[in-house]
Amino acid sequence: MITVTLKNVSKVFPGGNVVVKDINLTIRAGEFFTLLGPSGCGKTTTLRMIAGFNYPSAGSIFFDDRDVTHLPPNERGTGMVFQNYALFPHMTVFENVAFGLRVRKVPQAQIRERVAAALAQVRLAGMEERRIDQLSGGQQQRVALARALVIQPNLLLLDEPLSNLDAKLREETRTEIRRLQLASGITAIYVTHDQAEAMAISDRIAVMEGGRVHQVGTPPEIYHRPATRFVATFIGKSNLLEGVVDRIDGNRGLVKVAGNLVIGVDLERRNPQVKAIPGNRVLLAVRPEGIQLAQPGEMDNVLAGTVLGVEFGGAYTEYTVGVNNLKLVASVAASEGELRRKNDPIKLKLPPERIYLVE
Ligand code: ADP
Ligand code: MG
Repeated sequence: MITVTLKNVSKVFPGGNVVVKDINLTIRAGEFFTLLGPSGCGKTTTLRMIAGFNYPSAGSIFFDDRDVTHLPPNERGTGMVFQNYALFPHMTVFENVAFGLRVRKVPQAQIRERVAAALAQVRLAGMEERRIDQLSGGQQQRVALARALVIQPNLLLLDEPLSNLDAKLREETRTEIRRLQLASGITAIYVTHDQAEAMAISDRIAVMEGGRVHQVGTPPEIYHRPATRFVATFIGKSNLLEGVVDRIDGNRGLVKVAGNLVIGVDLERRNPQVKAIPGNRVLLAVRPEGIQLAQPGEMDNVLAGTVLGVEFGGAYTEYTVGVNNLKLVASVAASEGELRRKNDPIKLKLPPERIYLVE
């Protein structure tokens, strides 16, 4: 189990393309840590620098107190699972998994034992003599995982390991990977563009965009307290309301949105960088499930609008609602009264405890 630290790491490719911009991260010992962001944001480049397949153009990488910035991959003790698995298709499962041990000149008798143990770990016991091209996608994925684990790495790196699997298998396999990581206690760094996957299995997530880290936090922190507009929209759905701070009274603020609508907010629920000063522009975020139907007679934080769209989802109904020039999405529990129809008037309540001041 090791701690991984990235200090001011940048990567410039020939031609001047800056794809990783001054990243600072600490991945704790035993943590399942995910780099999450859209395609092209620099996740693979960052992971490859941690593995040693690329070197940073600036900055340093530490495994515990050891500076590994310019160490080749085979001297780092990391196991890596690549997006396309990078298995040898005509070789057997045994030979694929044994590869890293042969390179390390492990004695033959030990190799048999360790390959068998690694295959048992990924639930492929007894599959040694199968050829890779005779396996399903899910089985190939597990061979790639066994090959990474067999060298008993101090750090497991996984680059979109589920992208070649269908949806159902993806969900099963991500649970399996998390189970293995918890059982072995190994530090793991996982790369994905899939926010639901990241939320489901990670201890903490770094949300990346354009080579930068926008936010590092636990899944609930990132979901409920997004640090930037990008995070608020990339992770789940958010209603974003641009407003101007009108008045402040202790921990309560009044924000004017869409011209003259006044919304009360709890100023403790804000990004520390947001300056709550009258006249300042702010960005409010509310999740669809944070919006409720207003009770008759309720006045505070109630917005009167018109139903623009209805999507029945069983447990929840999703309403798209027009309020002045705003379009809000509210996800309302089935228990909250009968369905409204398109063009019906509707009153929505935005409880202050569900509003977050993002920027
Ligand atoms: P991600 O894994 O998040 O999809 P990558 O780290 O693979 O993103 O790539 C980030 C950016 O760096 C992309 O714009 C990509 O085209 C560019 N890039 C990746 N590898 C190289 C390379 N070897 N040379 C030049 N540009 C590269
Ligand atoms: Mg990638």
